Amino acid sequence: MGTQRKILLANIHHLDQHTIAGYESRGGYSAVRKVLGMDPLKVVEEVKLSGLRGRGGAGFPTGQKWSFVPRNTGKPIYLLNNADESEPGTFKDRVLMERDPHLCLEGMIIAGWALQSNWSCVYIRGEYGYPYIRLKRALDEAYSKGYLGENIFGSGFTHHIVIHRGAGAYICGEETGLIESLEGKKGQPRIKPPFPAVCGVYGSPTVVNNVETLANLPWIMNNGASAYAAIGTDKSKGTKLFSCSGHINNPGVYEIEFGYPMQQFIDEELGGVWQGRKLKAVIPGGSSVPVLRAEDLKGVTLDYEAMVKAGSYIGSGGMILMDETTDMVEAIRNLLHFYAHESCGQCTPCREGGHWVSKIFNRISTGKGLPGDTDLIESTCSQIAAHTICFFGDSLAMPSQSFLRKFPEEFQARINQAIGGNAPKYESLNYDFGEGAHH
Ligand code: SF4
Repeated sequence: MGTQRKILLANIHHLDQHTIAGYESRGGYSAVRKVLGMDPLKVVEEVKLSGLRGRGGAGFPTGQKWSFVPRNTGKPIYLLNNADESEPGTFKDRVLMERDPHLCLEGMIIAGWALQSNWSCVYIRGEYGYPYIRLKRALDEAYSKGYLGENIFGSGFTHHIVIHRGAGAYICGEETGLIESLEGKKGQPRIKPPFPAVCGVYGSPTVVNNVETLANLPWIMNNGASAYAAIGTDKSKGTKLFSCSGHINNPGVYEIEFGYPMQQFIDEELGGVWQGRKLKAVIPGGSSVPVLRAEDLKGVTLDYEAMVKAGSYIGSGGMILMDETTDMVEAIRNLLHFYAHESCGQCTPCREGGHWVSKIFNRISTGKGLPGDTDLIESTCSQIAAHTICFFGDSLAMPSQSFLRKFPEEFQARINQAIGGNAPKYESLNYDFGEGAHH
């Protein structure tokens, strides 16, 4: 990691970094002091020029998202910090909130000023107990110093931050599901348009940004947009946090400059595959993105564009690595069990289709697969993806199809084993979804 520049994790090894004294001793809250003397629209311009893109998964340009917000509606403008980090394999925002919570708060105040928002909220997943405690302590410290509330830093600007704890639904990480939940309703995503920038929480213009995205702002405002834009590749600017888990020697959270070679990252930073085994597969950006075979990684760099070219996505940066002993049928069965359970239930293709796909993977995995099962999964997935209110449908279809396409031999072998080479007629079968199937 020695050669990799640190913007977000630069100070997390200091034991007092989570306190306001520790944070300020290393330059904390200097960016916000500077920003409060600037024209808010100039701050939006700076963020646009920096090339910062959303780190929650979609990678949408942050400054552009801010510029969609109408400023003359007479309604309050809200900023929501999405800390509902629920994507399996993703735990990078957790580290920021636990180790450097004031960085998260300073980023929010900067965004609040740029948007001229007087109220913002951190929506944190309910399971994040310790990050919540650290963030709440930091919030109390910031209020006691007068860094939040009215007339902050003597600027005349009012900004309040509240922390809202979620109740454990994956879909509340989807921005409109998050907004519904925050309003006290069921966390079910809204049909778009209208987009939150125009009609968000309580019908007001709202920006939803991810924790990591906002945590970049102090550095950008202190060092300038061009310094940030000089890091990374042509279209992927800055650094990215990757939470790495699975069959590797050094699991953990890493900050990497965009454009870093993926194989080098695995071999050098992650310490290679554990127990001297070979790498079989990688899910590079959280469990919703397509899986890649180890052979697919040749020449791939860690940036948005290169990953799309390789057939997957950077996504949330939740990297799951699997060694040669991994049972890919069991791996996707496990994942789909999760997705089928987490559908919010509004759209039929997602609510019903997710369970169908989960059940079919379940029977293949439990030795009761039928000839034609892989085609059935493919066709079901093709009728789920892009036929739903939110992206969750695609999030369950993409990994399902990619596991089948990347490792067809494993699924076929399991089905062949089940039928003993004597394929019964598909239509005549009384389906048995296997023990443990989800209903
Ligand atoms: Fe809910 Fe699934 Fe429809 Fe999203 S796609 S709104 S999670 S039913």
